[in-house]
Amino acid sequence: MKSDQLIKRAKERIPGGVNSPVRAFRSVGGNPRFMVRAAGSRMWDVDGNEYIDYVASWGPMILGHAHPKVIAAIQKVAESGTSFGTATEAEVEMAETICSMIPSMEMVRMVNSGTEATMSAIRLARAFTGRDKIIKFEGCYHGHGDAFLVKAGSGAMTFGSPDSPGVPASVAADTLLASFNDLASVDRILEENRNEVAAVIVEPVVGNMGCVPPATGFLQGLRTLCTKYGSLLVFDEVMTGFRLAPGGAQELYGIQPDLTTIGKVIGGGLPVGAYGGRKEIMQMISPEGPVYQAGTLSGNPLAMAAGLETLNQIRKTRSFYTELEQKAKALEEGIVRNIRTVGVDAVYQRVGSMSTLFFTSSPVTDYTTALKADTKRFALYFQEMLKQGIYLPPSQFEAAFLSAAHSEKDIEATISANRRALEAVARDVA
Ligand code: PMP
Repeated sequence: MKSDQLIKRAKERIPGGVNSPVRAFRSVGGNPRFMVRAAGSRMWDVDGNEYIDYVASWGPMILGHAHPKVIAAIQKVAESGTSFGTATEAEVEMAETICSMIPSMEMVRMVNSGTEATMSAIRLARAFTGRDKIIKFEGCYHGHGDAFLVKAGSGAMTFGSPDSPGVPASVAADTLLASFNDLASVDRILEENRNEVAAVIVEPVVGNMGCVPPATGFLQGLRTLCTKYGSLLVFDEVMTGFRLAPGGAQELYGIQPDLTTIGKVIGGGLPVGAYGGRKEIMQMISPEGPVYQAGTLSGNPLAMAAGLETLNQIRKTRSFYTELEQKAKALEEGIVRNIRTVGVDAVYQRVGSMSTLFFTSSPVTDYTTALKADTKRFALYFQEMLKQGIYLPPSQFEAAFLSAAHSEKDIEATISANRRALEAVARDVA
């Protein structure tokens, strides 16, 4: 297979052969597939295999791959130049669009990745409050900034390295860990560190230990605690922004964070992130205020064009999220039926178009319960799905994404493949 040859070559010059760890298939075994093309719900690899894709480039491709309107927008803009390093009208349009869709974001700054967005938001929160500590939740992932690589989710969790060497102990010491869905743990930490916590950062719906929804009242409780203790509430909506609702998880659950980070969908497949929030906080950013943050390619014309066209397409279809929900529900019903019929210990968790099939017997609500999932069974399941042309995230601790391009036929095919894969897992258990 060409993919096998390519990974061999890649490993000579790229650590692990990949430019982002979970692409490497390490936790599911076998070699990663090198892709050459994608369209709609499908991807094709260098060996000519076709897949129904549920990775969606880890979230951005909510319209499906290579949406003709998005591609046309990129092509049109590219002809006028790819980057000026000056202000452009598209950036103003983008900022206005974001602020209108997510009303808690009164001002916004564009950056180039989710990681940059969260790092910058935390710097700003520290500056605004004059406090150094932050609270994050075990198993949440907020990009690879030093302050966040403490009990981090996503690839860090997948590879058993939630705490990375290279993060100074002094930085890690300012990151306090709470347990997701456990308000008491947050209350205790805030009480023990009175007037010291700048921000509580959270994935309002976790995607990075697999899909874990917030318990009823959890997000509201965080809002109340942050207000009480004078800490900023930061919603990391890099994954959930424009995915769960036009206004992200904050719209779905009716919560107003002080700051929000977004990425993925907002770039339409190009490298983009953004952070924003209350005006009085955002006005502290340079050059309006003293908090420094900058970027050579921030607000890049191609990225703005791809992102704006993606948002246009979403807003054009009134029932965009309802239709996505219906498809996601159909997929869920099929998979839940299969779990029951086949009789394996598995739990399917879903919020909108984000989902995870956990190989465990009880619901996953936090880091501890996520770690109970049987990653060996997941690996077998993953390989069985891959053989049948279903491309899932290659880790138990990642969310799968559905796009508007997935058809009923795709969903039926996925349910059938899921049944056969679960049967293979059941045989293996026996
Ligand atoms: N925050 C969340 C919630 C994420 O899911 C991710 C990426 N998966 C990030 C931040 C980091 O974004 P990026 O990979 O673009 O740096």
